[in-house]
Amino acid sequence: MCLFCKIANKEIPSKVVLEDEHVLAFHDVNPQAPTHVLVIPKRHIAGIGQATPEDEAILGRLLLAARRVAELAGIAESGFRTVINSGANAGQTVFHLHVHVLGGRAMAWPPG
Ligand code: 5GP
Ligand code: ZN
Repeated sequence: MCLFCKIANKEIPSKVVLEDEHVLAFHDVNPQAPTHVLVIPKRHIAGIGQATPEDEAILGRLLLAARRVAELAGIAESGFRTVINSGANAGQTVFHLHVHVLGGRAMAWPPG
């Protein structure tokens, strides 16, 4: 079972921000901004590059959960960034789909 499946199953502890039947949001262990939360589907999907039309509903749920995370963290007004890394060049290191929600500081564009 992959790392984030174990986090979804509570086999590995995490600091949970929100949870429902389909998604889990938890603090990144190595935060890159004052708020850095990861939103994952509880069901294993390797990444956005492996998503299929059957994943349409869960993909929507992930982004709506990201919005809710931003509201709960108090960064919805000041601004936040959602990031999905896909594959080696993008720096994906965990191959279970996750949306990064980053905020609480100004961020550069384009990203590095
Ligand atoms: P990626 O580089 O794949 O887009 O992002 C993976 C993220 O998962 C990284 O930001 C990393 O800090 C985070 N991460 C890796 N292992 C763990 C863990 O065991 N717990 C938590 N909460 N975050 C993790
Ligand atoms: Zn997984």
